[in-house]
Amino acid sequence: MDLSHLPSLADAVGRRRPNLKPLPRILERKAKVNASAREEKRIKAAVKARDGGCCRVCGKRGESVHEIDPKGMGGSKTAVRLDNCITVCGDGVRGCHGRLQRCEIRFKGKA
Ligand SMILES: [Zn+2]
Repeated sequence: MDLSHLPSLADAVGRRRPNLKPLPRILERKAKVNASAREEKRIKAAVKARDGGCCRVCGKRGESVHEIDPKGMGGSKTAVRLDNCITVCGDGVRGCHGRLQRCEIRFKGKA
């Protein structure tokens, strides 16, 4: 199947070229999901850079990003925001991230 007449997924998000036909809905949805995944990745990198790559709980090397309030604002916005995330050690099971996820400890203060 030749799909060369279709615009690329990158064109569907933010870089739409005016003379091209719109993407089929399924590809448009996929492009939006990819764009939001890229945005989350960019925000998580910014969180790690802000925290100097260190765990905000114990000061060890930060390995993951924890969402302080895991729910987005009103369900419309993602919880992955610079003001809602901190760098922590471990993953969602081990280290400070695991302890936060299991509510053994609480992060108090501002991200
Ligand atoms: Zn830690």
